[in-house]
Amino acid sequence: MSNEQKPAATAENTLADIVSHAKEYGFVFPSSEIYDGLAAVYDYGPNGVELKNNLKQLWWKAMTQLNQNVVGIDAAIFMHPLTWKASGHIDGFSDPMIDNLDSKKRYRADVLLEDKAAEYEKNGEIARAETLLAEMGRLLTAEDLAGVKQLIIDEKIICPVSKTGNWTDVRQFNLMFSTQIGAVADDSSKIYLRPETAQGIFVNFLNVQKSARQKVPFGIAQIGKAFRNEIVARQFIFRMREFEQMEMQFFVRPGTEGEWYDKWKATRRRWHEVMGLPAEKLRFHDHEKLAHYAKAAVDIEYEFPFGFKEIEGIHSRSDFDLTQHQTLSRKKQNYFDNDINPETGKPYGNYVPYVVETSVGADRLFLATLCQAFQEETITEGEGEEQKTKTRKLLRLHPAVAPVKAAIFPLVKKDGLPEKANEIYNSLRFDFRVVVEEKDSIGTRYTRQDLIGTPFCIAVDHQTLEDNTVTVRHRDSREQTRMPIAELRGYIGEAVSLNRIFEQL
Ligand code: ATP
Repeated sequence: MSNEQKPAATAENTLADIVSHAKEYGFVFPSSEIYDGLAAVYDYGPNGVELKNNLKQLWWKAMTQLNQNVVGIDAAIFMHPLTWKASGHIDGFSDPMIDNLDSKKRYRADVLLEDKAAEYEKNGEIARAETLLAEMGRLLTAEDLAGVKQLIIDEKIICPVSKTGNWTDVRQFNLMFSTQIGAVADDSSKIYLRPETAQGIFVNFLNVQKSARQKVPFGIAQIGKAFRNEIVARQFIFRMREFEQMEMQFFVRPGTEGEWYDKWKATRRRWHEVMGLPAEKLRFHDHEKLAHYAKAAVDIEYEFPFGFKEIEGIHSRSDFDLTQHQTLSRKKQNYFDNDINPETGKPYGNYVPYVVETSVGADRLFLATLCQAFQEETITEGEGEEQKTKTRKLLRLHPAVAPVKAAIFPLVKKDGLPEKANEIYNSLRFDFRVVVEEKDSIGTRYTRQDLIGTPFCIAVDHQTLEDNTVTVRHRDSREQTRMPIAELRGYIGEAVSLNRIFEQL
């Protein structure tokens, strides 16, 4: 038996393969598909929701269970409209967009330039790529939109659809969705769907600090939906209009933000590695243009089939948000720090804390996990004349995140084997998500479970009736082990335990 991994096919093919695999095996469906879908909106299917919940749980536990000084909240999506004035989103949450006059397609100007830089990088022209990104950063920071357009023209960037460089001017486009609250639709009832979960944390800073009896430094974690009217709707669930964020705001004493920024940057990268994203497919990318609130910002990027792209942002946000909320709400956001400052011999006293934020998209993490797990390999089966070589596709998901932990197969649908399989199912279902499958040949059943990433398949045969043992087949090695039914719970439990992941953090 030999397993040889095959290198990925072309980048485009691989993403297309993943998209169709995700649909066929119940991971991700286009939203409202019977009406031809809704651009950049997706639904998670039966296996997708399990995988996503498992990923979210791993993040949640790594944040709140492993750190005594990080607690969670679940804030509402709707917030008082002044929140978004204070945060700067009403005035400044926009992307520079440009239209091609021939194809009528709309693009993000910065993405066109970033793609060009990635092309230079791919060709080994690293310095050229860096110069281009630096120039883009300078122009965007200066809000010189005419300069951005000129750069697109100078770089001879053309529309991939019309193949022309017939561009409109670059304009800013606000990404927030708005709606009305209450029965009367006028300007005063206008509210927004939150474009980030962070503000729900900021406005609850003092509620949480007091009720959870936390001392600075401490963090507040939250998982929830966010909405952005993205201009460019492509790359599957990488860029959606409705998505989920897992954010943590860590409140620190002013002056210590640098060390906390470095700490969280390293911690979060390590987390992705122990979750199964290989170190060589992860990199840091410093921001060219800092957001209005940021003192420093870095992205953790993963190498998707379409290139290195952001999965998580780490931002040093200073006291910007809390101070803004203090001004607009006229409610003090001070914290009294009674630790003694060694320089003065007195308590540090009152201040508005600084914030270091970690923000990861649950959907982007899901996509990265799926891209990493989706593999095709050549395997050899049988001996001598009977030997056959074939390819198999599988999802090499970590058992802790796999949607189904074990599938139980009665070898035949008679002789009491289905009843025995159900007995095993009943003994495991309180601890793990397990399924019983009776239909099709055992080989077909193995294949189906490989395709959804089930780490163990348990075969129930006639010997089981005699001695209460089963065959456990391992997804990755395809090796089979005979073991007593009584040992299954401990065996699967060990493999899917989060401890194994957390121990490495
Ligand atoms: P990008 O530059 O790709 O638009 P961003 O820098 O605007 O992303 P942040 O505002 O830092 O993203 O949001 C934090 C995280 O939320 C991102 O790292 C990403 O994982 C996720 N995210 C942001 N926008 C989307 C989206 N439209 N669809 C899915 N996930 C998103």
